[in-house]
Amino acid sequence: MRSTMMRYPLVLPRALERAETLYADREIVSRLGDRSLHRYGYGAMAGRARRLADALRKAGLKPGERVGTLMWNHHIHLEAYFGIPGAGGVMHTLNLRLQPDELAFIASHAGDRVLIVDDVLLPLARQFVERTGIEKVVVARISDEPTPDGYEDYESFIADGDPAQPLFEPEDEFTPSSICYTSGTTGRPKGVAYSHRALMLHAMCLGMKDGWDLGQTDAAMPIVPMFHVNAWNFPYASTLVGAKQVLPGPHLDPESLLDLMAGEGVSITGAVPTIWFAVVDALRAEPGRWALPPGMRVIVGGASPPPALLRALDSLGTVPIHGWGMTETTAGATMAHVKPEMADWPRERVLDLFTERHLPVPLVEVRVVGDEGEAPWDGAAMGELQIRAPWVAAGYHDAPGSEDRWTDDETGSGGGDGWFRTGDVANIDAAGFVKICDRTRDLVKSGGEWISSQDLENAIMGHPDVKEAAVIALPHPKWGERPLACVVPRAGAKIDAEDLAARLAAEFPKWWLPDAYEFIDEVPKTSTGKVQKTALRERYADWRWEG
Ligand code: AMP
Repeated sequence: MRSTMMRYPLVLPRALERAETLYADREIVSRLGDRSLHRYGYGAMAGRARRLADALRKAGLKPGERVGTLMWNHHIHLEAYFGIPGAGGVMHTLNLRLQPDELAFIASHAGDRVLIVDDVLLPLARQFVERTGIEKVVVARISDEPTPDGYEDYESFIADGDPAQPLFEPEDEFTPSSICYTSGTTGRPKGVAYSHRALMLHAMCLGMKDGWDLGQTDAAMPIVPMFHVNAWNFPYASTLVGAKQVLPGPHLDPESLLDLMAGEGVSITGAVPTIWFAVVDALRAEPGRWALPPGMRVIVGGASPPPALLRALDSLGTVPIHGWGMTETTAGATMAHVKPEMADWPRERVLDLFTERHLPVPLVEVRVVGDEGEAPWDGAAMGELQIRAPWVAAGYHDAPGSEDRWTDDETGSGGGDGWFRTGDVANIDAAGFVKICDRTRDLVKSGGEWISSQDLENAIMGHPDVKEAAVIALPHPKWGERPLACVVPRAGAKIDAEDLAARLAAEFPKWWLPDAYEFIDEVPKTSTGKVQKTALRERYADWRWEG
């Protein structure tokens, strides 16, 4: 017997069509370079995305060819999110915080043919475009400057496109629609090519109560960049459900963000912990200045949040949701939500758990594999986190030799591969909550035993005078490696290393305690705002332990 259901592919044009039909006037608000707010509805956005699709086709783009974007979060980038796949192309979101050499490598490796770039980012584009196969540069104006000679203006480019032409319809929902490169902290960056199906299924997951509960009544503001993992899928999920979208453009200072949240009634937003630290500080510095929508969901991800952060967000009347994900997992794969048996837990206890742990969302399977095979779900046994789901990558784009990131037990979904080896060290508790303990390469191996640098950092950041901390492993003649704590004090504060050590001693075994504390001005960050431990390890490469 065959099922009698329709073969209805999960493709992105379905999300756009729904939004333009049902939510033509639902607003998309963008902050532009000059700080002005641009507003229009899904109807207008879809019309312009369709024009872009047709203009790209007329410019010779063939199905499967790549179009780069070098843009902040705003409405024209959203048009590209639909217009590029709508032309049959693959959108390659380029990270504007990378160096020109890295951008040249990535744009060449992906085979980008066209680049759509914000006018304010043209100086960066000029430094790498000529070293790539990019034949055409289209400039999106988000400032008052006219488009320089020699470049095509986005508005005149899409004016040639006919919005009545149908969007490209892949027959196969596994057809790629966008590609994003990993941050490449180990080796060269690698491309993850997302399929229409993966993005649509993940968007539906974000609409579930145990995802983000995203719906038509929401006003969603991705602060996480649209060049990073499709802004955690905010744009596609918001369009699918018809939510209002609020896009902060290049203005990521806490005051600008808070003005937008309060002014536009933002009900859900997401960013890395670094952004939330600054937002919490600004809110505390000027109590009463911003009236945030009560119960605003604040998605915290991309790095481990120190305990004080979730508590601070909670006490300010927002609802923090901590999640974990990777470029390879189409963003959020686990989210911290209350299970039924936790219903009567005091909020403090819930927050303590959620700071560390999160549950795999529906359709995501996780396991932890240690030296002795699959680890028990006892909240203690650590090993590598492995994952599979319909939106987890089954390989990298054109990256021979990277196959060992997948297990070969033929149990995977989609591509028929095994599990994806995340490179994160984790444990899972009896209730199924995952705790990310560290990146494999960031663990400190002292005398054959593992020390979690992340746990130490979070404890150090619990000190009221500490702004940030990073713990790194440095070679040690006797123990193999020992932890060094690099600590950034808050402005004007003086911290006593002994005081810090005493705090940690109350929480951790003696052999876990850092052997030294370095007070520094700033923790180096990657292009996506994560602590760059490689830079710190290089800085202390000549370190000699005392005694
Ligand atoms: P990226 O692919 O650039 O998004 O980086 C993914 C990596 O960020 C993961 O492999 C983790 O190491 C780290 N990461 C993401 N979310 C979290 C989190 N909630 N807690 C700890 N680490 C995280």
